[in-house]
Amino acid sequence: VSDLLKNIVALSHEFGTPEFVKGGGGNTSAKNGETLWIKPSGTTLAGLQEGNFVAVDRKALGALYAMDVPPDAAAREAKVKDLMMAAICGGSRGRPSVETPLHDIFRATYVVHTHAVLVNGMTCGSAGRVQAARLFPDALWLPYIDPGFTLSMAVRVAVSKYESEHGHQPNTIFLENHGIFVAGDTPEEIHAVYGQVLDTLRGYYAEQGIPLTLARSEAVVSRDIETLMHWPDVGAVVPGGRFKVVRGPLTPDHMVYAKAYPFDQSLSDDARVTFISRHGYAPRVVITPNGVYAIGKNEAKARLALELSLDGSLVAQLAAGFGGVQLMSDDARRFIESWEVESYRENQLSVTRTAESA
Ligand SMILES: [Zn+2]
Repeated sequence: VSDLLKNIVALSHEFGTPEFVKGGGGNTSAKNGETLWIKPSGTTLAGLQEGNFVAVDRKALGALYAMDVPPDAAAREAKVKDLMMAAICGGSRGRPSVETPLHDIFRATYVVHTHAVLVNGMTCGSAGRVQAARLFPDALWLPYIDPGFTLSMAVRVAVSKYESEHGHQPNTIFLENHGIFVAGDTPEEIHAVYGQVLDTLRGYYAEQGIPLTLARSEAVVSRDIETLMHWPDVGAVVPGGRFKVVRGPLTPDHMVYAKAYPFDQSLSDDARVTFISRHGYAPRVVITPNGVYAIGKNEAKARLALELSLDGSLVAQLAAGFGGVQLMSDDARRFIESWEVESYRENQLSVTRTAESA
């Protein structure tokens, strides 16, 4: 057990860099026959230590697959959360990641799930699925599915179908408009799979003539900052320079930290109020003729919004190599917007706290 935890901490730190995840995104796990150790909600991969992992009883977790599924999404996720909390082993603390059942599906010892930007250029591309089948014939591709229990059940069905056809489980799963799961019995296997995936993608982008860094002009300090600082609930404004902000929902993480839509009107009070009544939230990312600004209650939140907005912009740039960017559907966006309130707020708060204390 001590080796398992040591290895998963090392993997978490290695794959907890901005190349792979932003904010509290992504999650990792290690397991033996009885127990699954998973990253808790509200933590960052880079900050994980051995004592942070939540130990979950795999047999108790199995109750999820046999439960009567409530038709209402909120009731369903609440029931899943209760079942997961009940599966936590004595002496262990923290709330298991919503993606815990997904980790349990893999028989492999280690699972590392990230939102790697190079990968999301493909998973957010309209031709991503077709190209993935060609570039990664042994990987499994899943169309976009609401995260949480629904996604876990869909992955379970897809993995068992894959296994009946191939005689073994997949070690790579691409999730459309979301990210990648990699499973392996040793840290070396995880490294090898990620290495192969990223090398293949780098080669593909090079072939397509697509640069791997974002086209962006330097941040300018303008009067806009002063104006934005006077907006209600704004405690920090971070200038990001000029870059092409994605106008719409790209992945759940981009939505959670930067919101689906940026504000691009004149900085008047009327326009701000109209935006809020149309979208149901205050903007996090503001586009003016002087450049892009991220705003938030505090500096950590504003920085995170900018980070995700920049990441989204790079994803869109890369997705040009995969037929152009494909946004999430309105239904998918609405699920995240309402789900965020239930499940993600806590996560975001503690991530902000982590970022502030670091
Ligand atoms: Zn994820």
